[in-house]
Amino acid sequence: MSVRKPVYLDYNATTPTDPRALEAMLPYFTDRFGNAASRSHSFGWAAEEAVEQGRGQAARLLNAEAKEIIFTSGATESNNLAIKGVAEAYAAKGDHIITVATEHKAVLDTCKRLEKDGSRVTYLPVQEDGLIDLNMLADAITDRTILVSLMAANNEIGVLQPISEIGQLCRDRGVLFHTDAAQAYGKIPLDVDTMCLDLVSMTAHKMYGPKGIGALYVRRRNPRVRLLAQMDGGGHENGFRSGTLNVPGIVGFGRAAEICRNEMERENERLLFLREKLLRGIRDGVGDTYLNGHPTRRLSGNLNISFGGVEGASLLVGLRDIALSSGSACSSGSVAPSHVLRALGMSDDLAHSAVRFSPGRFTTEDEIDYVVSRVIEETNRLRQMNPLNDSTKCAPEPVLAERS
Ligand SMILES: *Cc1c(COP(=O)(O)O)cnc(C)c1O
Repeated sequence: MSVRKPVYLDYNATTPTDPRALEAMLPYFTDRFGNAASRSHSFGWAAEEAVEQGRGQAARLLNAEAKEIIFTSGATESNNLAIKGVAEAYAAKGDHIITVATEHKAVLDTCKRLEKDGSRVTYLPVQEDGLIDLNMLADAITDRTILVSLMAANNEIGVLQPISEIGQLCRDRGVLFHTDAAQAYGKIPLDVDTMCLDLVSMTAHKMYGPKGIGALYVRRRNPRVRLLAQMDGGGHENGFRSGTLNVPGIVGFGRAAEICRNEMERENERLLFLREKLLRGIRDGVGDTYLNGHPTRRLSGNLNISFGGVEGASLLVGLRDIALSSGSACSSGSVAPSHVLRALGMSDDLAHSAVRFSPGRFTTEDEIDYVVSRVIEETNRLRQMNPLNDSTKCAPEPVLAERS
């Protein structure tokens, strides 16, 4: 078994650009460098044509119309534009927003900012498996509620929220529904009509496109969503987002979306096989492990596992030949355990022992075999090094044991 090292198993943090997307982008750095807003010559027309093709490709993966796609720099900006834009545009209608404790910081911190400015925000808890309770959501909606912002797939534990049911509930109650789909777009089927989505945040670098480009879907009818722009300037993107368009980025994003659309089904089968092989291998070889998040309602490319009695950070140091993440990439470096794992009701110890494994498009079965053998080796070594780490001392609460 020979695999190239280091092995990359952190696709939930970012993905390489697919060579097919890169190839499509290259001419737009050189020969076709025009500004898509230049209306008076062929350089501009070529750029605009490429942008409109990318817009169509990005829309198709959501079953949306091209006109409903606004290009941004990524999901962080899209989340800001969606949530702040709605809060400001609908201030006369209401001031209440509902979101969830396990959202990405780009949603949570945006909501915190709005709270400082006078909005009211409900942060729903999640159940032990990471999913929300729909009844709780229904009860939280008041006649002052203007927006529900709830992610489609979680970046740390991979769980898939019941988006269709949430969308239908919001539609029935006359509340706009925004979903942060940074991890879901291109990985699971999304349909803005059947799922009643009003606003959807996307980013290219989580689905094999380049970094620094993303989009926000904004529904144009039934209902037409109003937004207040967060970036003032030349009035690009129908006035929703000023700034010269990142033409090569848009071309790469569009091509990446097209590839995901064509290959999603087969790719999910392959990843599911690799994910289950990884889980089985680790469970067979290492005792006292816990799968965090719902066992099946999760991305095919995500496992989040706690190793009783082992520091996740120490395990990552030992596994230097494998690129992994403890908690989310954005919060690693800080000592506090991940807010997502805490929201599942885990003890700090068990949360600190969590490692995220996220295989993706270029992961091979040999790499999975290698990772399994190295994880077994390192976990056993760490547990033996520290005699305090006997399994009785670190045995978790029975309620946590049930999770795996
Ligand atoms: C990565 C990610 C973001 C941030 O996206 P950027 O394009 O890097 O700004 C937001 N939400 C989720 C769920 C993510 O996984």
